[in-house]
Amino acid sequence: MRLITLSLSLFFCLTLAAQKTILIKCGKLLDSKTGIVSEKQNIFIRGNQVVSIGTATIQADSIIDLSSYFVMPGLIDCHTHVLLQGDITSEDYDVQVLKESIPYRTIRATKSAEKALMNGFTTLRDLGTEGAGYADVDLKKAINKGVISGPRMFVSTLAMNTTGHYPIKASDYSWELQLPKGVIEITGAEEARRAVRQQLEQGADWIKIYADRGYYRLADGSFRSIPNFTNEEIKAIAEETILSRKKVAAHAMTRDGILAAINAGASTIEHGSGMDEECMRLMVEKGVYWCPTLFVNEYVAEGRAKLGSPINQYFQQSIQATFKKAMKMGVKLAYGTDIGGYDWNLAEAKDFTYFVDWGLSPIQAIQTATTTAAELLGMQGKIGEIKEGSFADIIALKKDPTKDISALQNIEWVMKDGKVYKH
Ligand SMILES: [Zn+2]
Repeated sequence: MRLITLSLSLFFCLTLAAQKTILIKCGKLLDSKTGIVSEKQNIFIRGNQVVSIGTATIQADSIIDLSSYFVMPGLIDCHTHVLLQGDITSEDYDVQVLKESIPYRTIRATKSAEKALMNGFTTLRDLGTEGAGYADVDLKKAINKGVISGPRMFVSTLAMNTTGHYPIKASDYSWELQLPKGVIEITGAEEARRAVRQQLEQGADWIKIYADRGYYRLADGSFRSIPNFTNEEIKAIAEETILSRKKVAAHAMTRDGILAAINAGASTIEHGSGMDEECMRLMVEKGVYWCPTLFVNEYVAEGRAKLGSPINQYFQQSIQATFKKAMKMGVKLAYGTDIGGYDWNLAEAKDFTYFVDWGLSPIQAIQTATTTAAELLGMQGKIGEIKEGSFADIIALKKDPTKDISALQNIEWVMKDGKVYKH
C-alpha cells in the first residue's frame, strides 16, 4: 500500500514537473471581481492553470512580456451560434440549412469558433445548431483535443420547439417535400422528455427551448406573443433537465414566453426584448439571468421591416427603457450576443457599448462577460477571473477598457488554457 502511495506521489511530481511554467509580466492587470486595476503584476502559470499573482519574478520556463498591455480574463459569450453565419431574412436562414450540408456548415463553424477566440472570447455557450444535428458536440471535442483552435464550449445541441413552430416553414415550399428543421420539434410531455434525454445523451451541456413566437405590440406599447409549449410540455422539459443536473436556456421575447419559462424552471432568458416589470420581478426573485442580445436586434430590424415585419424595430424603440428598468430592479445581466444570428465578421464585443451607453459602468459591463457569465455557467473561480486555481484564460489589449469600453473590440493577445493563440 505504501509503495502504491509512494509511486502515486512520484507520478504527480513528475506530471507537475512535465507541465511547462510561464510568467506573464502585466502592465496593468484587472481583477474582474473587484474592478481594481493593479500595475506591474506577474501571473505565474503552470500547465493550464494560474498558480499565483504578485510582484515577485518567479523562475519560469518562459516569460511573456505584456508590460505595455492591459491584461484581463478571457471573455465569455453566453449566447452564440457557431453553426450559423448571419440571417436577416428567413431566406438567408433557409439557404444555409438547405444548400449547405452539415459537414460544410461544420467547416464554416470551425472558422466561427476561431474568430470568437481571436475576439478574446475564450468561452462560449452555444445555443443551438439550427439544423446541424450534434455538430456542436464534435466542434467542442475537436477543440478540447486540440484538433482545431477555439474557445471553451458549452453546447446545447438541437434546441427544442413544438411541432410546426420553427423554420424551415413547410408552407414556404411544396408540401410534398420533407424539409429539415432548425430544432427538434415535439408534441406532448412524453416527446419532450424523450428529446431532452436524447440531447443529454449526445452531450448537451444545456437544454435550449424556444418559449414563444408571433410577437406583437399592443396599443399601450406593451408586447405579447404566443407561447409555444403547453404547461405540461415545458414543465416536462425543465423537470427532465434539472433531474440530470443541467439547466434550461429559454428564448423568450415577451411575458407569454418569459413567465412560462421561468415558472417551469428555466435559468436564463434569451433576448427578452419585450419583457415587462412582472417578468423582471420574477427574474430577480428566482435569480434568473438575462442575455439581452442587443446588437443582433438592431442588425436584423431594418431588413425584416422592409419585408413587412417591423417587430424588431418596435423592440429597438423600447429596449433602452426596458434595459434601464431591468438594471434598476436588479435583474442579473449576462453577456450574450447571438452572433451567428449576425455575421461573424462583425464585432462580438459590440453589446458592451450599449451597456455603457445605457448606464452601466465599464467594469459592470465587463463583469457581465466575466464573473457573472462564469456564475451562469457554474464555473465561478475557474473562468472569468484570473486568480489562484483559475484556468489560464487571459487576454490583453493596448487600451484600458475601464476607461473606453470600445477597446474590447480590439483584443491583441489571447491565451486559453495556458496556450497562446494570438500574439
Ligand atoms: Zn440565438
